[in-house]
Amino acid sequence: MNLLSHSINYFQKLVSEPANILVVSHYNPDGDTIGASLALYHFLKKKGHRAHVLVPNDPPGFLKWMPGSEELIIYQADNEYGNQLIQSADSIFYMDFNSSSRVKFFSEQLIASHATKVLIDHHLQPENEFDMAFSVTAVSSTSELLFMILEEAGYGNDVSKEMSECLFIGIMTDTGSFSYACNRPETFQVTAKLIATGIDIEKLHRLVYDTYSESRMRLLGHCLSDRLKVLPELGTAYIWLTRDDLERFEYQSGDTEGVVNYALSIEKISLAALFTERDDRIRLSLRSKGNFSVNEMARKHFNGGGHRNAAGGDSFESMEQTLATFESLLQEYKQELEHNLLNYHSKAL
Ligand code: 5GP
Ligand code: MN
Repeated sequence: MNLLSHSINYFQKLVSEPANILVVSHYNPDGDTIGASLALYHFLKKKGHRAHVLVPNDPPGFLKWMPGSEELIIYQADNEYGNQLIQSADSIFYMDFNSSSRVKFFSEQLIASHATKVLIDHHLQPENEFDMAFSVTAVSSTSELLFMILEEAGYGNDVSKEMSECLFIGIMTDTGSFSYACNRPETFQVTAKLIATGIDIEKLHRLVYDTYSESRMRLLGHCLSDRLKVLPELGTAYIWLTRDDLERFEYQSGDTEGVVNYALSIEKISLAALFTERDDRIRLSLRSKGNFSVNEMARKHFNGGGHRNAAGGDSFESMEQTLATFESLLQEYKQELEHNLLNYHSKAL
């Protein structure tokens, strides 16, 4: 990859002098934002910085064992301390998101900060609010990108076992265990270097994927048997969950992670959605195969964004109305969906 040398110089300069450095993860944190943030945190601490990781809300249980996770500062639980850290930061690293709005609770504080702002991210269409942007959409994950930056900046040997565990979790979760967004050999080359530090990838996989509570597993069953709608002519399948469903299955944050992928794994389905009823909104998770851009759909219609094949957004209508709106939108996208389906399956066969 061709990372501009002046960006690498900039990174080297930023980390060479001890400073107050704030690392920020996005709202509803996933394995990649937490993995990349914690890996950078471990690196910065080792280099003598006063570093902190600020996360808008609590990460899901299946990430809470990660090295350093007990030191994460959760803004929702301690906003005063969070604000203090933003105010006293010399530089702020934005990990795995590209717009201040993605931290939800402290966007304004980030925008108002005079700290040096550095973006490390792989999402489409970054905002123009950073002093330096490492914005590379071709990589699997921000964790992969961070490894490449560290290596290019000459810190390859500083990548410790605990940093590797964090980075591996980012790559593994953002590629669905190496099943999508992983066609570049570089992703595996980086992964091989992480494995060489002695991490136990079988154990890491178990810690993330084999730690379902019974109620989470039953919620998945409910999604697939009672809440799945398939629209074969549009190559679309979606799942919806009401607040009552969540309550009945003792929903914990992270319990719906991965659910949308089941809809996408149905034969001849190339667009999948999960609608989850929250207190004040309907949360959308969108996934696609092939050229159909869910980033565009989420940006245009659901106040969201993401990647071409994985995006999220919100609807402020009722569940019933949101589903009706979504189905009528599908009619607008009908030709594109049909075309995508044909194209995708002719290539896949
Ligand atoms: P998920 O469906 O797993 O919540 O999100 C899928 C992808 O879209 C992730 O890469 C996530 O960072 C991004 N994403 C999710 N929600 C939003 C949103 O509201 N706005 C933007 N810009 N990106 C989002
Ligand atoms: Mn990511």
